[in-house]
Amino acid sequence: MNPATPDLSRFRCRRCGACCRIPGGLVRLREGESAALAAALGMDERTFLDRHTLLAPDRRSLVLRDRPDGACEMLGDDGLCRVHAAKPAQCREFPFSWRNPDSFRTCPGLRALAEGGGASYRRRTEWTRPRRARVETVNVPP
Ligand code: SF4
Ligand code: SF4
Repeated sequence: MNPATPDLSRFRCRRCGACCRIPGGLVRLREGESAALAAALGMDERTFLDRHTLLAPDRRSLVLRDRPDGACEMLGDDGLCRVHAAKPAQCREFPFSWRNPDSFRTCPGLRALAEGGGASYRRRTEWTRPRRARVETVNVPP
């Protein structure tokens, strides 16, 4: 099935956190984001980098570490992002700037748009990827 592009102006995030629990997903950090994340967690940047980041498998950026269950380490037990105000751009931009075919299955908000169909659902083959990375995960999550 071809991925399609729905009318994203109608997208409504369900705050389910599913996009923060994509197995194998990578949340890449852009320049300056580690400092903001460290500040949000009340720690210095060096400590944040040591405790919460890893070099991506392709060695092109740092990524957030995962919890033992595979979810992003920044996902709290309440299902909400612990660094919401400082979350990486990759998270903030999903699904508007990027999404992948599987996002229509894993994200309830996108799935609802796709199932709604109709004139606002433009059929168009497209696979957008985050400018920098993972989907790989996540999105404008909780
Ligand atoms: S972007 Fe989608 S998967 Fe992520 S929290 Fe919102 S509805 Fe859930
Ligand atoms: S929004 Fe991004 S940083 Fe926050 S828990 Fe989800 S994947 Fe992690």
